[in-house]
Amino acid sequence: MKNLKIIIGSVMLLGLGACRTLPASTEKTDAAYHNLILDGKIYSAFYQQRAAEYEALCLQAYNIAKLQLDNAIARHQGEKPLAIVSDIDETFLDNSYYAVERARQGKDYDQKTWNEWTAKGIATPLTGAQEFYNYAASRGVNVFYITNRKTEERNGTMKNLKKYGFPVQGEDHLIMRSAESSKENRRQEVSRNFDIVLLLGDNLADFSKDFDHKTEAERSANVKSLKNEFGKKYIVLPNFGYGDWESAFYNYNYKLTPKQKDSLMYNAAKATP
Ligand SMILES: [Mg+2]
Repeated sequence: MKNLKIIIGSVMLLGLGACRTLPASTEKTDAAYHNLILDGKIYSAFYQQRAAEYEALCLQAYNIAKLQLDNAIARHQGEKPLAIVSDIDETFLDNSYYAVERARQGKDYDQKTWNEWTAKGIATPLTGAQEFYNYAASRGVNVFYITNRKTEERNGTMKNLKKYGFPVQGEDHLIMRSAESSKENRRQEVSRNFDIVLLLGDNLADFSKDFDHKTEAERSANVKSLKNEFGKKYIVLPNFGYGDWESAFYNYNYKLTPKQKDSLMYNAAKATP
């Protein structure tokens, strides 16, 4: 009995000792705070960096893309040359490193540090990406990159594409965001001269204006009404680190702090169906 008390006492002391050694920044003074958002960034980045399942999902997406591209080439008629339109981030370049670095500093995305990251041009290709985009180019298909990276990020982005050998068939094939976040006008611009047969993205707004700034309910309804396009014209890459799926939940309020997002998401998550 005496030994048991000593053991219990030692365990309690060890426990207290462990608490005291926690750095101040990781102490959760607010009982309602779970650090869901920033730890979640690391969790999703970890999946992106290490899960073979993630690689398999990427390969699955590019394999379907290749199949549909071959079909489109085989049935192609008309004057306009064929084109595919692709997003960049988390569609074929992996930026999980940026998310980890920020989260370790207790911070979320911001434009300034994001620009510093993209200027380096070192985001890595997703598994199977180089093969797919180069295959498309080798078949004479025009590859257009429509990204919401800003015009000031152009040089770093071009450097990154070239570093990993992604096809750049002209300066006009890399289309940055100069005005609104919607990609609709930029897609329309491409479709004036090209027949867009395939779109690749990790965010539904990469495919159609039907997903621009929509509520969660509208997004869900529009996915169902466009169900025949997925795996056909729309090729979706997985990204649970960020995206409109999250922004829609916050009603596109980009001013919320990670702490505010944390409690909203924690409480909205369902523990029963
Ligand atoms: Mg993206």
